[in-house]
Amino acid sequence: GNHIVIVGAGQAGLQAAETLRAEKYNGLITLLGDEPHTPYHRPPLSKDALKEKHFDALTMRGQNVFERRKITMRTGCRVSAIHPERQTVELDTGESLSYSGLLLATGASPRLFPGQEPNAKTIHVLRSRGHSEAVAERLSLCQSRQEPVVVIGGGFIGLEVAAVAREMGLEVTVLEAGNQLMGRVATPVLAKTFQQRHESRGVHIALNARVTHLSEADDHATIELADGQRLTAGLVVVAIGVTPNDTLAQEAGIVCNNGIVVDAYGRTSAPHVFAAGDCAARSNGNGHFLRLESIQNAIEQGKAAARSILGQSRPFHDTPYFWSDQFDMKLQIAGVAHAVTTSVVRGNTCDAAFSIYNYADERLVSVDTLNAPKEHILARKMLSQEVWPTPEQASDPNFDLAALME
Ligand code: FAD
Repeated sequence: GNHIVIVGAGQAGLQAAETLRAEKYNGLITLLGDEPHTPYHRPPLSKDALKEKHFDALTMRGQNVFERRKITMRTGCRVSAIHPERQTVELDTGESLSYSGLLLATGASPRLFPGQEPNAKTIHVLRSRGHSEAVAERLSLCQSRQEPVVVIGGGFIGLEVAAVAREMGLEVTVLEAGNQLMGRVATPVLAKTFQQRHESRGVHIALNARVTHLSEADDHATIELADGQRLTAGLVVVAIGVTPNDTLAQEAGIVCNNGIVVDAYGRTSAPHVFAAGDCAARSNGNGHFLRLESIQNAIEQGKAAARSILGQSRPFHDTPYFWSDQFDMKLQIAGVAHAVTTSVVRGNTCDAAFSIYNYADERLVSVDTLNAPKEHILARKMLSQEVWPTPEQASDPNFDLAALME
């Protein structure tokens, strides 16, 4: 019979399950998640939730919604193996389920610092609701004991945590191994601006900082740096990136390359097996792979994979976008800053709002906006319609961008 099994009950898995129903599929759907919770919003975990601790409010759908849509949602349920040749999946309970279509939406796991104890009291990573609850508790403890916080990694998640901790009045140090913040996604102009704004609010930022040793004793963490410095903290958050959860696919002989390789339809190298979200690396057929880690990508890939499972092949080509909230700064990025040769600022980086247009040669590839949500929407339109201002026009505050799109 028809049974679509989805491994991973996160953003992509939930989206796919609901898309199947929206597209009038009426066979069985089983959504398997290894966390104790039904799908929830992950972005607040490094932002408001650390202060407000409103974790239950992050739940995306009530149990009644799963019942109404006839989606069998199983929490606390880990898939231990998949068998594409037999079209079955194995659960860690020993159960085996047959499928007509399989979607891998397993997400990604935070990288640990070498030797990091996953159960340490003072040293944490931040990916799941459980992690965020533990970090939130520790932040409150640091607040009452007036103990400093150290963040390892100056990417989005690290900087978001640093901003929250600082807003709580804590002493915060961000240790970044690279020579700029947000190195994977931000141009130097943007990174510099963020660094200045964090520093002006009292966050200590150390670039080119190489942590050599991390340990815990007596409810304190000790951080040793290559230059001989030694820091102690009541909380260390290790935010040094993630690795895609592609082991199930690899063990089943499915092609992986820093993620489960998929085409524009979400198909993997195995028949009837699809992948979406953070775990999926999209091939453009020319030996290039793009693995995005964003809500928008999880939603779009989840939708596309669901439609492919149903045999409706519609490739997806939405403009990627991402956001981050740090202090009073709402950063939105449209597109991907790949192979950037020119960046021009529209407005002034000292102002509350401005934007940066990034070009790869003549081509606009991404637009960073700070506190300019309307311009972000416009930028997404420019990128998807491939109509854009020249760098000279973009940097001219009197040039009418909206008129360009009419
Ligand atoms: P996930 O949401 O990670 O879901 C995968 C699920 O699969 C997990 O629950 C996992 O436990 C489960 N799973 C894995 N293996 C198995 C198995 N074998 N059996 C059963 N279940 C399994 N993106 C933005 O666009 N904007 C933001 O501001 C933003 N902020 C973020 C802040 C934080 C703290 C984090 C962690 C991420 C943030 N992201 C943000 C990224 C965004 O949350 C992810 O890109 C998105 O959640 C990916 O969705 P997914 O479904 O691919 O993976």
